[in-house]
Amino acid sequence: MTRERNLRIAIIGAGASGLMALIRLREAGIEDVTIYEKADALGGTWRDNRYPGVTCDVPSHGYRYSFEPNPEWSRVCAPGAEILDYLKKVARKHDAEAFIRYGEEVTRADWRDGHWHLETSKGGRDAFDAVITATGILHHPVMPDIPGLDDFAGEAFHTARWKDEVSLKGKRVGVVGTGSTATQIVGAVVDEVAKLSLFQRTAQWILPLPQAPIPEEQKALYRADPALLEREYQRISFENNSKFAAAIVGANPHAYKAMVTACEENLARVADPELRAKLTPNYAVGCKRMILSDNFYEAIQKPNAELVTDGIERFERDGIRTKDGRLHPLDVIVLATGFDTHRLFRPMQVTGRAGRTLDEAWAQGNEGYKAVTVPDFPNWFMIGGPNSPIGNFSWLLTAENQFNFALQLILKLRDGNLSEIAPKREAAQAFNEAVRAKLPDTIWASGCQSWYIDPFGNIASWPWTYEKFEADMRAPVWEDFEVA
Ligand code: NAP
Repeated sequence: MTRERNLRIAIIGAGASGLMALIRLREAGIEDVTIYEKADALGGTWRDNRYPGVTCDVPSHGYRYSFEPNPEWSRVCAPGAEILDYLKKVARKHDAEAFIRYGEEVTRADWRDGHWHLETSKGGRDAFDAVITATGILHHPVMPDIPGLDDFAGEAFHTARWKDEVSLKGKRVGVVGTGSTATQIVGAVVDEVAKLSLFQRTAQWILPLPQAPIPEEQKALYRADPALLEREYQRISFENNSKFAAAIVGANPHAYKAMVTACEENLARVADPELRAKLTPNYAVGCKRMILSDNFYEAIQKPNAELVTDGIERFERDGIRTKDGRLHPLDVIVLATGFDTHRLFRPMQVTGRAGRTLDEAWAQGNEGYKAVTVPDFPNWFMIGGPNSPIGNFSWLLTAENQFNFALQLILKLRDGNLSEIAPKREAAQAFNEAVRAKLPDTIWASGCQSWYIDPFGNIASWPWTYEKFEADMRAPVWEDFEVA
């Protein structure tokens, strides 16, 4: 005979994924849920990233929860603040705040007696039947390993720790790094600063992406006809998943060729051959995460902008000294140096069955089973775990797909006579062997440094098509799990 258990579930993180997990758990009738959030506000990456020009580079109508379509997006790609407002609005509508414990970081999680025992930075202790980690991937800022930052007399900060009180107007500003973040900042501030120096270690391929406003009349059509909004969502998802994502994993050579051509034609818009040569990457399109911008090349060609390609020697009191001996005098240094994407929810200490810690399990790199679960860590469900599809497509969609997979396992716990569910070691091993076997065929392994590959050479992303990911998330292979 089966019984329905009253499950207690902890979600870690009140960003886009954590909010979604809460709402969807409640929709499934699971109300005993606590979200632990280390900051004092919700919103995750959209709360932390407030730099000038911060914009989603996935077209907005493709970037929304399935259960909250939004006809109001103001631009093709919405500004970060607007996405944060969307998340807050969704949270209000679903009474999410009542479930969130702010300022409380989970420091330990121990699997004992069929429960996860959590400890928090505030000394809180509680036990749960299951844990969902929703801690994001791009949230541990990387500070550059360059000496002298403390010697700099001006302001210096990482892009995810933006100092709102520092004005860049009329200042000499140095930006270190040339990823998505740096290119957005350069385009946004070049006209207000006195001088902009962009310190480039590696050139990037850039796809043009028009950032047009969405006219009021169009919004009115979307409001009046939800089916029209849904069709736009499906169109964007198809472009991102079946063309773009497939191109990257080698499953759509035609789309890949079109992408290469678009990047090359975009670069050809840079008039000065010397500058163009400096901006030309020496690796394949798609090896690093693609940058989408419609204003970066224009900005870097402005008279007050300089692309510096000599390596950085050190930071000094008055600016940045490059390896050619030149001092670049600066008032503000912006470190657009990215994130440690492999730390995931660490420094949390997680101990699973038989005292096995996650640090031990992941000593040679993060490995799970289909990105959501880990052997020996029962009832531990990750949104954004190792080998999640991370790329130029909607994270909200990926998070919902992963949640759907986790929910099917959670419902087994609730509705069956089960207290534990975890993937079998052999199943996880087979999955990880398949990932490793596929890696050499992917564009990410074609010869560049990127945050997709960890220090052990493991790929952090999903190496197959998005369709395969969706199919795998839709239907768990039950024989791959062990239960108790
Ligand atoms: P990133 O892509 O990792 O870029 C970091 C940049 O800093 C790279 O150019 C890197 O150079 C440079 N760098 C790092 N350490 C350095 C050092 N010691 N000296 C000189 N240069 C150094 O980081 P990001 O631009 O913050 O973007 C991270 C991810 O966030 C993106 O890929 C994307 O997924 C997401 N993002 C999304 C949006 C959006 O619109 N949705 C916007 C911003 C960010 P190398 O290339 O040589 O390593």
